[in-house]
Amino acid sequence: MNRSIMVVGAHADDIELETGGTLAKYRDADYTVVYVMATNNMSGSVSELLGDGSVRTTRETTAPMMARRKRECDDAARALGTTPIHLDHPQRHYYGGVGNEAPELRYGCALPAGVPENVPTILTAAEDPASVTRLANLILEKEPECVLTHGVSQMNIEHFATSLLTTKSYWQAVEAGYRGALLHWRETHTRLGEFNCRWDTFVDCTRYLDRKMELVSLHRCQMPKAHLPDSGHREISVNWGQACGCGAAETFTWVRHADYRDVNGLTYWPLTLELIQNTR
Ligand SMILES: [Zn+2]
Repeated sequence: MNRSIMVVGAHADDIELETGGTLAKYRDADYTVVYVMATNNMSGSVSELLGDGSVRTTRETTAPMMARRKRECDDAARALGTTPIHLDHPQRHYYGGVGNEAPELRYGCALPAGVPENVPTILTAAEDPASVTRLANLILEKEPECVLTHGVSQMNIEHFATSLLTTKSYWQAVEAGYRGALLHWRETHTRLGEFNCRWDTFVDCTRYLDRKMELVSLHRCQMPKAHLPDSGHREISVNWGQACGCGAAETFTWVRHADYRDVNGLTYWPLTLELIQNTR
């Protein structure tokens, strides 16, 4: 078992939005980060902050979109001392150019440029044994203390699909002897109602909120206002902090606790210890 955290996010920016404070905090505690990006990031739009404070949003076709978002991913991962591992599952739709508004990938649909034929879209990746095994083998190879990924209770279908893929891969790794924990992060919104506002545990990110927002800001085309003091995502972290009794927090639900102690058999490592101490 390594003193490292594996994070699996659907899209460039998800990892920083949901775990940026946790990763920055534990980087300072000498953890390494295994940064896994599930989709190819070919969809989405490009937002740009203008001099008058407004945001201009434009669209790009698949190849430049993928390149742009991967560059931003590289920047954020570098700030966490690592490089991204791209699983490159195609997103469910893409922008094909003027007059071709975000067609869905369907049976028989031509694939856009730069997308290989033999990789299932993220929506069905959890049903593809090769995709599940690839991620399970990555967990076994890296042996992180914890795997963090999206929860199943949220509104974005590609986040949901990434949660299914990671969770299925995790259990396959456990069957092969992996002993680390799996936690689902609490998606920031609460639109699915009160039951889905619940969380089991949290990481206190009070002293790391600025660093978190710096990491989020590196995803310039998605988060052009993240550096501003009134950023909505900054407020969300503060709101969760109030719910958890600290200044800023990132919240999680346990799928399975780690099955290990340190070499002396006496204590858990710092991340696991914080997560256990903060479990309600
Ligand atoms: Zn996302």
